[in-house]
Amino acid sequence: MLTAITGINWGDEGKGRMVDLLSEDYDIVVRYQGGNNAGHTVINEKGKFVLNLLPSGILREDVVNVMGNGVVIDLKHLNEEMGRLIDAGIKITPENLKISDRAIICMPYHVQQDCLEEERLKDAKYGSTRRGIAPVYGDKYMKKGIRMGDLLDSEEALRAKIEGITEWKNLSIEKGYGAEKIDAEEMFNWIKEYGFKLRDHICDTGLFIDNAAKEGKNIMFEAQLGALRDIDFGIYPFTSSSSTIAAYAPIGSGVPNRKLDCTVGIMKAYSTCVGEGPFTAELFGEEAEHLRKAGNEYGAATGRPRRVGGFDVLASRYGVRMQGADEIALTKLDVLSYMDEIPVCTGYAVNGEKLDEFPIGEKLEKAEPVYEYVKGWHEDISGCRKMEDLPEAAREYVKYIEEAVGCKIKYVSVGAAREEYIVVPD
Ligand code: GDP
Ligand code: MG
Repeated sequence: MLTAITGINWGDEGKGRMVDLLSEDYDIVVRYQGGNNAGHTVINEKGKFVLNLLPSGILREDVVNVMGNGVVIDLKHLNEEMGRLIDAGIKITPENLKISDRAIICMPYHVQQDCLEEERLKDAKYGSTRRGIAPVYGDKYMKKGIRMGDLLDSEEALRAKIEGITEWKNLSIEKGYGAEKIDAEEMFNWIKEYGFKLRDHICDTGLFIDNAAKEGKNIMFEAQLGALRDIDFGIYPFTSSSSTIAAYAPIGSGVPNRKLDCTVGIMKAYSTCVGEGPFTAELFGEEAEHLRKAGNEYGAATGRPRRVGGFDVLASRYGVRMQGADEIALTKLDVLSYMDEIPVCTGYAVNGEKLDEFPIGEKLEKAEPVYEYVKGWHEDISGCRKMEDLPEAAREYVKYIEEAVGCKIKYVSVGAAREEYIVVPD
């Protein structure tokens, strides 16, 4: 069974939490795109963990975790993240963490370039997490990347590669931005310090996954961010720099020969968005502040307050289509419990005309939300474990959303802890 767990919205839907829950039945969890700009919060019996790079299956002892070729890896960050987990008693060995030899390394100059560009843009900035993600993916496609597999080659070959690439990079860092020159030897030493100790984890992960699939193992592909941040289909250029959609999972994991059996879309009961860019359903003022506090909407990776809004029907329906979701996990329903009436953005209007599909470009920038209000339930639902435990208005809200996006809601999450969820019967 090959299952993808992906975000329907702008990210932070609770993917990490759902992977942690559903990975019980899986042998392997693979991260297939993105870098340490992700922040997946997982709360279980072992404690509270924020995972940026590591697959969320790392918290389960019998799960093998894979960082696929589609991921970009900041070696220092990965070392620190692994160190934090090991200190908390989590076992990480070459047996339960495998890193693709084709994954690209996110270098210190990528982070530097990300910061330089955001500063150059001033008010027009992208709202980048400043972790080097756009520059490193840019370099990947410019064919100037250093790959994890390069750490297994001779030191001379690695050094020569770094020298060639830093010479090229200095054309922009030093000569373009006028910043201090990158030193090739310093970069080599950085890789040596943080990369060489990972050598035993590096392998052909595509082959590993393909063999596991042949043996009938259950494999889960974990996405970072959501459909609306996909480089092709999201709110470009306020997207991430990689493919966040399920269809990319086999490619970013090294098994383009395999097809997914199931895609679980993680969708939030309201909307949130970190950083800049069009966010039509955005709420402001007291209404927003209240929702942000109730949902504790502050970025896991950066601590930034997230922009918030009501559930966005148009964007979510688009997200469901782009992900090819077979079923939905609706998260954070409990957060809406304080509301008398629940705001739902049922559509967008441009110059008074209602849109049928999620737009791009100027239309998206100009779109005004059409808001409707549905009945709230006004009671604590975090203890509910069956649909019939939920108040009627909450059940109706779930049904309403299911019909609006046209996809079966299979799970309803009513809290951040592992057991705080409901399975919706067919
Ligand atoms: P991800 O990036 O999609 O993995 O999501 P994040 O971890 O960035 O953000 C989701 C946040 O909501 C985390 O702090 C989770 O602990 C929390 N969370 C997840 N599901 C629920 C839920 O059903 N209810 C509540 N109250 N919190 C949840
Ligand atoms: Mg997140």
